[in-house]
Order: sequence, then structure tokens, then C-alpha cells
Amino acid sequence: MDLPHYELRCQRCDETFEDDGFILECPKQHEPALLVADYKDKRFEPDSSAEGMFRYGRWLPGTRLLSGAGSSVTYKSEKLNRVVGLLNVWVVFNGYWPERDAALETPSFKDLEAWTVLSRIPERHQEVLVLASAGNTAAAFARACSLNGVPCLIVVPEAALPNLGFPDAIDPCVKIISLTGFTDYSDAITLADRVSQIDGFFPEGGVKNVARRDGLGTTMLNAVEEIGEIPHYYFQAIGSGAGAIAAHEAARRLANDGRFGEEPPRLVLSQNLPFVPIYMSWKSRRRELVKIDEADGKKQTQQMAAQVLSNRRPPYSCKGGVFDVLTETRGDVLTADNFEALHAKRLFEETEGIDIDPASAVAFATLLKAARYDGIEKDAMVLLNITGGGRHRQRLDKELIPAQPALEFDENEILLEETPERIAGLFR
Ligand SMILES: [Zn+2]
Repeated sequence: MDLPHYELRCQRCDETFEDDGFILECPKQHEPALLVADYKDKRFEPDSSAEGMFRYGRWLPGTRLLSGAGSSVTYKSEKLNRVVGLLNVWVVFNGYWPERDAALETPSFKDLEAWTVLSRIPERHQEVLVLASAGNTAAAFARACSLNGVPCLIVVPEAALPNLGFPDAIDPCVKIISLTGFTDYSDAITLADRVSQIDGFFPEGGVKNVARRDGLGTTMLNAVEEIGEIPHYYFQAIGSGAGAIAAHEAARRLANDGRFGEEPPRLVLSQNLPFVPIYMSWKSRRRELVKIDEADGKKQTQQMAAQVLSNRRPPYSCKGGVFDVLTETRGDVLTADNFEALHAKRLFEETEGIDIDPASAVAFATLLKAARYDGIEKDAMVLLNITGGGRHRQRLDKELIPAQPALEFDENEILLEETPERIAGLFR
């Protein structure tokens, strides 16, 4: 039998161990820390025979073969550089854009994490995968699980439903639970946690799942494969920050290879006002996340243009989390309000001819401001992560079938004793 192509390592105690396909935390008792995958192969070598993002399979955990995976697309646009006022802005585009061969069907960079998470689950395992999502992750998992017959339960706040439309009907092995009323993503996490503890169900794990992060990290691999070097700056809007942590971990592997530059990019992360807990925490330069009042948080969330960026429990403080990756890269957190995001969204669409999600517009808005006021060197290599690209365009090209929730619960039902059992009943 082949030896596995990676092992897991704890970033707190440095212990290494074999992956069983499910482990999310170090078995030792200590402060929380993210596990990372250490790959045997230290050289960056894409496999051109593999489908979509699996061309980076040497740096992805798991071995299960799946069909239907797409990939990011990286390009440089002179027009966009003129608009920003810099010379070396590159876009890593995640979404649907046939003219650029971009074909993430769901269409955000969360599409990338679903494939690697499923690939890590051992073959013939039949328990139900449980996850919570603010929208894009739900769409990604619903489609990937449906195409590959993997039983899956997805909990989303109701606001996410309009973005759950698919070119093909979703297989009944995927069940969606919608939370109505005064609920948000954090409520979805609470309910998903409860169901995942029932026999026959297991948690996907979110940011703790190395497969999720290394899937998201393929955006960085794709960019560096195309550009030929590691960028100096990486701009991305964040809710939890999982994508930014992932980009940094991928960049660290590329830096270790040595052929693409020696430093991971400075992370310039962005949040959408008025809900900006990571910005507030980072500006106080403390490892602790600021306290977020639940009711205030929910109210602020409902005022955001980019509601997918609304995570009240981001992995900020844990070892290897957002605080650490910002510190390691001398990074920063910026903000954009709804007005700035809307302006940036229109500007991107006019310049590039493709629509983008509000979250990407937040990142683009902060790039515009940083280029103008914050003294980014004119020729610095800048990578802008665009996610949720071409959502509107996809709807013009294809008829999408909306997903139907199997059950709905309001804010009072989330903590009821019988609620998890009612959900489990859907699979029995
Ligand atoms: Zn440990």
C-alpha cells in the first residue's frame, strides 16, 4: 500500500499524526490551534491530467476521486490596472465567466472547498456530513454532494436561499434546513453543531477542516502558477477569514519551494461596515476577539450589503488563525461601507464586463482606497480575490432550479430539544 502523501501537524505542540479523514483538532489538551497538512512533496507541481482544482492534488488532503470540480482563473487586465492606478494588479477570479474559461458552477470560491472536503472523507463512508453556511458554502456542498451521492445536511439562514439555484436538480441525498425570522449564520452553526452530535452524523468542521482550507488555498496556487511568482499583496474580503488563512498557508508552501519568491504576500483583508469585528480586534492589536453583543451583531448584519461576511465567531485568536496570519505577513484589515462597495461593484462590472458579488466589491473598494491613499508601491504585485463572479451572467445563460428547504425553523425552535431529532428523521 502507498504511504499517505501528507500528515497532519498541530501548530501549537508540533505533534504530527496520520489523518483518518475526520480529525479536526489536536488530540492533546492545550489552547486551540489549527491543524495543517504537511505534504511530502515540497515542490509545487501541478498535475495537468487532473480535473479542475485537482491539478493541485499533491497539495490537497484526501484521495477519493470525484467528478465535476472546477478551478479559479487568474488574469491581468490593463483596463483594471488603469482604474486602480497601479501596474501589477492581478485578479484571481472565482465564478462563472465563459469568455475567461471560468466555470465554478455555484459560483464562488467556496466551490473549491467542497471538493477537497469530500475527497478527504474515506471511500464507502455513509454517515451524513453536516455543515452550516451563510450561502456560498451551502451551494457548493449541495452541488458537489449531489453529483457524487454523498449524504449531506446543510443549515442556512433564510437570506441564503435566493443564491441556492442549480443548473440541475439537487439529489435527495442532500437536505437543506432554512432558519427563518431573526436568525443569522451563527444560529445556523449552533443548530448544525447539535445535529452533528447525533449517531450517524458528523461535522464538516469549517475552518478546522484542513481539506476546506487547502481547497480554498488553491486560489493562491492557481494565481502563482499563472503569474510565476508570489504576489506582494493579497486583497480579500473576509467573514470568518478561512479563505485568507488558507491563502496564507498555500503561499507559505510556495515560499518553501523557493522558486516563486521567499515571502508569502501581505494580507490586506476587508470587512463590510457596520459589522467589522475582525477589523476592531486587529486595530486594538490584541489576540482576543472583541465582544460582540448578539442582538447588535444581528442588527448590524442585516444592514450589510455583503451578508456572507457576517461571522460572529471567526477563528481569530486560535493558533494559526487570523491574528497570527496578519501578524506573520505584516498585514492589515480595512473596511468599506455599503456605498463604497456598491460603487466598486459598478466600477468592476463596467471595466471588466462581468458582475461580482458584494463581498468581492468590498475587497475591490478597499484596493481602490489603498492604492490611492495608503502608499502601495505602483509596481507592487497585487492579487485581488474575486469570488461570486458572474452570478448574474450565469442566470442569463442558464435556467437555474431553486433548492427547496426540507424543513424550516425560527429563532425559538433552534434550541428546542426535539429539533435535532426532527432533522435526523429526514435521513431515516
Ligand atoms: Zn497539539
